[in-house]
Amino acid sequence: MSTRSDRIVIVGAGQAGVEAAAALRMAGSGVPITVLGDESAAPYSRPPLSKGILTGAAQFPEIALRTDQFYVREGIDLRVGRAVADIDAAGRTVHLDDGDTIPYESLIIATGSKARMLPNPELRGAANVLTLRTIDDTLRLQEFLRPGARAAIIGGGYIGLEIAAAARRAGVETTILEAADRVLARVTSAPVSDFFQQIHREEGVDVRTGARIAGFRTDAHGNVAAVLLDGAPALEVDFVLVGIGVTPRTELAERAGALVDNGIVVDAHLRTSVPGVYAIGDVSRHPCPQHGGLRRLESAPNVSEQARHVARSILGDEAPYAALPWFWSDQYDLKLQSVGLSATADTVVVRPNPGHDRKLEVFYLEAGKLIAADIVGASGDFAFSRKLVESKTVLDPEALADPDVPLRSFLALAGAA
Ligand code: NAP
Repeated sequence: MSTRSDRIVIVGAGQAGVEAAAALRMAGSGVPITVLGDESAAPYSRPPLSKGILTGAAQFPEIALRTDQFYVREGIDLRVGRAVADIDAAGRTVHLDDGDTIPYESLIIATGSKARMLPNPELRGAANVLTLRTIDDTLRLQEFLRPGARAAIIGGGYIGLEIAAAARRAGVETTILEAADRVLARVTSAPVSDFFQQIHREEGVDVRTGARIAGFRTDAHGNVAAVLLDGAPALEVDFVLVGIGVTPRTELAERAGALVDNGIVVDAHLRTSVPGVYAIGDVSRHPCPQHGGLRRLESAPNVSEQARHVARSILGDEAPYAALPWFWSDQYDLKLQSVGLSATADTVVVRPNPGHDRKLEVFYLEAGKLIAADIVGASGDFAFSRKLVESKTVLDPEALADPDVPLRSFLALAGAA
């Protein structure tokens, strides 16, 4: 048994864990804080891995979440390369894989998610089949990005599309194999999917939707030489990138007795069902006041918002979590910015942008109110859209679809709903 401690232990040294520690200090908490991470690198930001780091536009030290001095100055006991083996919820203690134990008063689980892999047995031991989640994954993938190399990217989600963009910039012959009938189907509407399919095709990517993978042909070294497809010739490849989604890393929480259902279920204060234990980021599923139900969001802005909120909750603030979901993605020279969740929309308005074929603005209304927007290539309009979604502004679809009515003018209606 351990002695009771006022320490806050954070499991996970990604953006969620580190930002929660920083937020606790910013809010004036002086209690001991320990942050534990199983990767050996100093904590870093993940979004650039499939963007600037992959293209070589940015280097690893630039994506460090904080300087080494920050942890020292703030008295944050950061331990990387250290995995938590178990949580003893009754004894309020975490057990590390090296036998060490750390008592806590509050525990924040920020373990994130891991990349899914295809179950095909022939992929085991194939050194040219990759996923991308960590800096090590990115550095390994970079080795394959050579002019004329042939890549199959399985999955047309954010990761597949961002990597396709980086691969084309490196001169890689790139094919995207997406099982659904359009790319980005999990996260957005058909007009946005069509726009990105078109952009990627213009950039020379062979985008195949409704793709059915029958298996893989391997060479004498066990590496994949071809992707076998139902109803299409085999696709000869030099490497395969699998971007078919992620699985939340809930095992520790589950063993500690926390309620888990596609993520660790938390309340409006980001508390799990186990006393003293909180969960934030990709791994947590929280009540969403804007869109209803429990949501598990896989996005960097969600991580930052929850990190700040959990700090406030631990320090006694009773306000419920209410941040509006938002996302972004960089592909080629384009930036997609999304706010709100569009799945429940009954009306989708595509605002024409005559003469701007690399610009897109799509708005989502539910019962007349704006609930979400996807904006490409118009950051100013994104800022207006955010305000309009925040206030659930009632908008006339016809006016919204009129390019002669400036988006800014709708701000006068915000709050009038
Ligand atoms: P994702 O958004 O879930 O997309 C995976 C895609 O792969 C889906 O379209 C899925 O289709 C498809 N798929 C699943 N199984 C397949 C199969 N057997 N064959 C072909 N296609 C298949 O996940 P992701 O793109 O891998 O991204 C991983 C994580 O990184 C996510 O958390 C994502 O949000 C995050 N990320 C975010 C950004 C950003 O926000 N800009 C950038 C990079 C990564 P179905 O839906 O039909 O299964």
